[in-house]
Amino acid sequence: MSLENAKVALDGISVGDAFGQMFFIRENEARERIRARALPPSPWYLTDDSIMSLAIVETLEECGEIDPDFLADQFAKNYTKNPRRGYGGMAHHLLQAFVRGEDWREVAPKVFDGSGSYGNGAAMRAAPIGAFFANEPDMIILQTELSASVTHSHPDGIAGAVAVAAAAGWIARNSPVRSEDGMKMLEYVFDVTGVGATRDGLSKALGLPLDYSIETAVSVLGNGHELAAFDTVPLSLWCVARHITDYSEALWTTVSALGDRDTTCAIVGGLVALNVGASGIPSDWLVSRESLTDWETSDEKWGD
Ligand SMILES: [Mg+2]
Repeated sequence: MSLENAKVALDGISVGDAFGQMFFIRENEARERIRARALPPSPWYLTDDSIMSLAIVETLEECGEIDPDFLADQFAKNYTKNPRRGYGGMAHHLLQAFVRGEDWREVAPKVFDGSGSYGNGAAMRAAPIGAFFANEPDMIILQTELSASVTHSHPDGIAGAVAVAAAAGWIARNSPVRSEDGMKMLEYVFDVTGVGATRDGLSKALGLPLDYSIETAVSVLGNGHELAAFDTVPLSLWCVARHITDYSEALWTTVSALGDRDTTCAIVGGLVALNVGASGIPSDWLVSRESLTDWETSDEKWGD
């Protein structure tokens, strides 16, 4: 078990999340900044992707594993510190129930008329679990399923999280992965992801050459526009495969897909960081990101 790995993933996620969030500006302006590789003005604000990933790392640090009750409490505590961090509507609903003391086993399965959530929220926070248990691939799957179930009961919401955590474990085990081996990660993830729409998307990603344009990739895989695991995870993992040795290029490509750009950048950032290490995250990007330790008192302006 490696808490250090989990923290590298968290750094990668949080820099990606905060970077991506800064591109929720007028589309023409976003495209122009991306074309010019112009970094956003700092500070870059953390959103729910980082805050919920932080709860995962806090749980691993305190419990040595994913204790889902502790995790639900940690989600609730961090939500209470500052609820205005871009949480989605369903996340507000669930987290407010947790704050009231309701049991995740009761409330999570009831959402969306009893089908549970297949949103991308369990996937966005899954990389630290794969990083922590990198050398125990079966454990990664079991622990990630537990972590996802606290908020995402739908099998595809869980599959999206498993796919990201499995990718994290594979990358941490095989680091440094060479640029020509990015597709091997996707092949492995496809093999261990449960059947459903996310796995179908991974199948399409496997058939998409890595030198295709991002516009083509978005037309085939989506870009998180539906906030679903199935239209977020396949594109994110394709971007990781394409730029597995280069953190900043990975994020410039990912943000150029637009869509749910804080979350796609969070997923990609967490995974590529596990290959390049904390020192592979550009230092000016790290210092632009809001602090992970005193974020709750910061004057945030993103999210609702
Ligand atoms: Mg967010």
